[in-house]
This record gives sequence, C-alpha cells and structure tokens, in this order.
Amino acid sequence: MAQVSLKNVSKAFPGNVWAIRDITLGIENKEFIVFVGPSGCGKSTTLRIIAGLEEATSGDVYIGDQMVNDVPPKDRNIAMVFQNYALYPHMTVYDNMAFGLRLRKYPKQEIDTRVKDAATILGIEKLLHRKPRELSGGQRQRVAVGRAIVRKPLVFLFDEPLSNLDAKMRVQMRTEIKKLHIRLQTTMIYVTHDQTEAMTMGDRIVVMKDGHIHQIADPITLYDKPVNKFVAGFIGSPPMNFVNGTVVKKNGKMYFNEGKFQVKLIDAMVKPMLPYVDKEVIFGIRPEDMYDKLFVSDAPPENTIKATCEVIEPMGSEAFLYLNTGKNPLVAKVGGHNKPTINQDMDLVFDMSKIHFFDKETDNTII
Ligand code: ATP
Repeated sequence: MAQVSLKNVSKAFPGNVWAIRDITLGIENKEFIVFVGPSGCGKSTTLRIIAGLEEATSGDVYIGDQMVNDVPPKDRNIAMVFQNYALYPHMTVYDNMAFGLRLRKYPKQEIDTRVKDAATILGIEKLLHRKPRELSGGQRQRVAVGRAIVRKPLVFLFDEPLSNLDAKMRVQMRTEIKKLHIRLQTTMIYVTHDQTEAMTMGDRIVVMKDGHIHQIADPITLYDKPVNKFVAGFIGSPPMNFVNGTVVKKNGKMYFNEGKFQVKLIDAMVKPMLPYVDKEVIFGIRPEDMYDKLFVSDAPPENTIKATCEVIEPMGSEAFLYLNTGKNPLVAKVGGHNKPTINQDMDLVFDMSKIHFFDKETDNTII
C-alpha cells in the first residue's frame, strides 16, 4: 500500500523565501495525482520533499504508514523521472536501466528480467544497446521511465517529464504514462505547469499558487466548480472570460450590469446574489458558453449583447472569436463553421445557466 500524506508541510529557503506553506494533503494508494500551477508556485519543491531531495522546514511526510522525514531518498521506495531525463551519456540504454539495481546488488538474472520486461512495456527492446545520444527525445524519456519501472517502486514521482518533447510527442507520451499507470496500478505523483496535461492525466488535481493549495478535485469538478477566480482562470483553454460589473435589482428581476451591457440572471441565482445587490462583482463565462445569435434558435434578448468580432482563429472543428464588446474584450469558442463576419456587429448570446460570479474582495466563488 502506498498512500502518501503531507501534514502541515512548509519549506523556507535561505533569504526567507517560503516555497510552500502549511501543505496538508492525502494521496490515495494507486491514485494518479497531478500538482499544477504557475512557475514558482511550489509544486516541484513539494515533490522533492516527498522524494527526500529537499528537507521540509516543518511538517511531516508519510509514505504508506511510515513517517519518512528522516529516511534518505534511496530508502523511500520511490522512483523519480526528471524533465531532463538524467541519463548517463556513456552508458547504453540497458546499463542506464540496470544501474540502480546493480547499485542495490540485485542478482544479474533478476536485473536482466526486469530491464527486458520494462523495455517490452515501453516498446524500447530494440534500443537497449544504444547510447542516449543515439535516441530521440521521446525515446530518451521512455528510458528514463524504464529506469523508474525496473525499481518496482511504491510511488512514482514525475517532475515535468514531457516539457522537452515536441507537442505531438507530448500528447503521445501523456497517453503512454496513463496506460502505464493502469497497468502498474501504482501511486503516481506528477508535476506540470500545463493545465491540459493536468486535466487529461490526473484522477485528482492539486492546483497551487504562491506556495498554497487552492483546490484539490477531479478534473470535471475543477472545471465546473472552481473555488475561486484563480482556479477558474487557470483551468480551461482559452481561459474563462472575466468582466467586472455591478449586480442590480429592478422590478423583482436581477441583472449583471457591466456599464455597456446588462444581462438578466436566471432565477436560481437570484437568492445567492442578493447580498451583492448594488455591489461590484466579477462575472465569469467560459468561451464555449457564448454563441453568435445567428446560430442559436432560442436566444432571449435579455441574455444577448452587442459585440464585434475582430479576429477569428479557425481550429478546424471549432473556432475562437476575439470579440470587442465596447469595454471588455471576450473570447468565444464556437463551432468551426459558425463564423461571423469580421468587424461587423453581431449579437452575442450568453448561456446564463453557465455563468460564474466571484467576490471582488476575496476572489472566492459566489456561484
Ligand atoms: P517551476 O514550474 O518554475 O519549476 P515550481 O512551481 O516548481 O516552479 P518551485 O521550484 O517549487 O516552484 O519553487 C518555489 C519557490 O521557491 C520559488 O519562489 C523559487 O524561486 C523558490 N526556490 C526553489 N528552490 C530554491 C532554492 N534552492 N533556493 C532558493 N529558493 C528556491
């Protein structure tokens, strides 16, 4: 069993740089968990503390039932895959994969079996005699993963392992690592700054910023129910649109007023928004929750605003529209064939059942 838990873990580097503060987190046995966040949020430091490569300033780390604060990395039963692969250039693929086992004095036959099994899983059997310089980036990454697999660790740690690969190879390796997780049934902890990687790979995602965890949830919950404006804007591509404005109540109906446009709130939102009447809030809408009126059959006028499309980015099955609404630019994601005419007025329809509101003071989600 390899659950991993962090209890009130903080890390300060010299100069009073707090990389992480008071992180408490439980990772289930066999879970694939992803730490994601912008550069400097503390995700690598958290991973390195789990690996034992960095010592926490305070707090406890458990792997399985054992507190490992004082256990050196080599005795933690973990294997780590780094962004730069960290292969030994003078050794063959076989020797790179066998190296850790030889150090631990495994019998020769056992090493041979493990290396060949891992090579088969990763489809690199034919590369075992090559040196790293004779391999492509994707092949090198497989060897680095192979070197982790042969150890049969309790926990795999990945630190941005796909960052050096081209876009196509990244997508391919992403699937391969997921398949590997299903096959090996081992706890995997994966660090990335790429929200698409996080969304596509994680059973659960830990969203971090400035050394703090903002939300831990499965991908769909993160997307549909972000706890604050940061998570809402970080998860999703193109990102959620934010508009500052005021909540107003007129004749028993409630509206969001941005200055240039006004839209009516659905009934279910009226009660939770009551405390915000006549106050400033942040309105959020995802690009796919807006439509060109020409292409929707049922578009109530109170959900519709005037916009001008300034740029269209055709993506094939979909298109991104860069819209001028007078005050706030918006990005919409529409069907690839539903394109408006550039620089002509259009009616933009909001799906008001999908909108979000955030508190202007705290950035926390209201609804
Ligand atoms: P990136 O995606 O850029 O690697 P990250 O989210 O992994 O970022 P960390 O590498 O964990 O972030 O760094 C968190 C904070 O700690 C940053 O402010 C960083 O500058 C600082 N930091 C990390 N390592 C050290 C160190 N060895 N000495 C001093 N400060 C450090």
